[in-house]
Amino acid sequence: MSDNFKAILISRDEEKKQSVDVVELGDDDLMDGNVTIAIEATTVNYKDGLAITGKSPIIQRWPMIPGIDLAGTVISSSHGEYQKGDKVILNGWGIGQTHYGAYAAHARVNGDWLVPLPEGINPLDSMAIGTAGYTAMLCIMALENHGITPDRGPVIVTGAAGGVGSVAISILSKLGYYVIASTGRSSEADYLRELGAADIIDRNELSEPGRPLGKERWAGGVDAVGSHTLANLLSQTEYGGAIAACGLAQGFDLPATVMPFILRGVSLLGIDSVNAPKELRLEAWQRLARDLDLEKLANLSTMIGFNDIIGAAHDIIDGKIRGRVVVDMTADG
Ligand code: NDP
Repeated sequence: MSDNFKAILISRDEEKKQSVDVVELGDDDLMDGNVTIAIEATTVNYKDGLAITGKSPIIQRWPMIPGIDLAGTVISSSHGEYQKGDKVILNGWGIGQTHYGAYAAHARVNGDWLVPLPEGINPLDSMAIGTAGYTAMLCIMALENHGITPDRGPVIVTGAAGGVGSVAISILSKLGYYVIASTGRSSEADYLRELGAADIIDRNELSEPGRPLGKERWAGGVDAVGSHTLANLLSQTEYGGAIAACGLAQGFDLPATVMPFILRGVSLLGIDSVNAPKELRLEAWQRLARDLDLEKLANLSTMIGFNDIIGAAHDIIDGKIRGRVVVDMTADG
């Protein structure tokens, strides 16, 4: 029997009122799975913020240990591909929503959900990337598959100072794209330029209802915002261009017209990280190891300990977090 460890547990009472507590659990309390992991690092994503604040119905099984991303070392395994001592990453697949997640010292999961930690990336780096960074990579791969290469013209990134946005800017600029960053935080202009943004625009330019077709301004885009912003991105995309849509920070609505699609051949590429197939994950993580500057990654990350997770979850929903938060699970904070 292993020692008890600390975990964040979200529970609901009979009136469906949510409470968030730090509790002591043991390995026997974990859910079924064929690989048990000692968690070394995790992160706080927007979705984790939604779960802990209860702002959106992210959790689908009660009680729940939140945390949708983890990195650590295998303690025990009956899965053919993993052995004790292997370093692994897990993003999504319902952890923190339907299966106990990352905000505990240990996790027991289905080995099919795991990705081996790529060479050259340590567990803390991998969580500086996290679901946000891996989703940014999926967006960029989708744009590339659509033929949006740097010579096609500028690309726009919305929610620029957030997690997906920051990593997207960093990778796109390293790949040679001319990156336009859309942000509501003019105070972060220097930070965005350091990441590689060539041009910065105020997000208010895009967040109000716009015309069905506008001046063609970009060949492609990564959108973390949705709603009118996504509609305006589409209406200002060059002929044959594409926008990869992954987020809803402004809203989940899409008040757009079909005009960009039928008059300019523009494409809208949907990006899901949670249930993305394993081959795509492996490719995305290999690309991240190659195309993301780890020094820039360190600049866009803030390190916290376990005790700071709940506060950071509230901050991300209040739009107070810049870039990525990394949780060192070996530190209390
Ligand atoms: P962050 O909170 O780190 O970033 C979101 C950014 O969006 C903010 O930093 C802000 O950027 C901008 N923003 C916030 N509110 C508004 C608003 N009302 N109008 C316009 N812009 C706004 O979150 P993440 O980067 O982690 O995630 C971004 C989005 O992507 C979220 O909606 C998240 O749920 C989604 N997501 C989806 C995934 C998928 O699989 N499809 C996976 C990962 C994330 P700024 O301050 O620069 O304006």
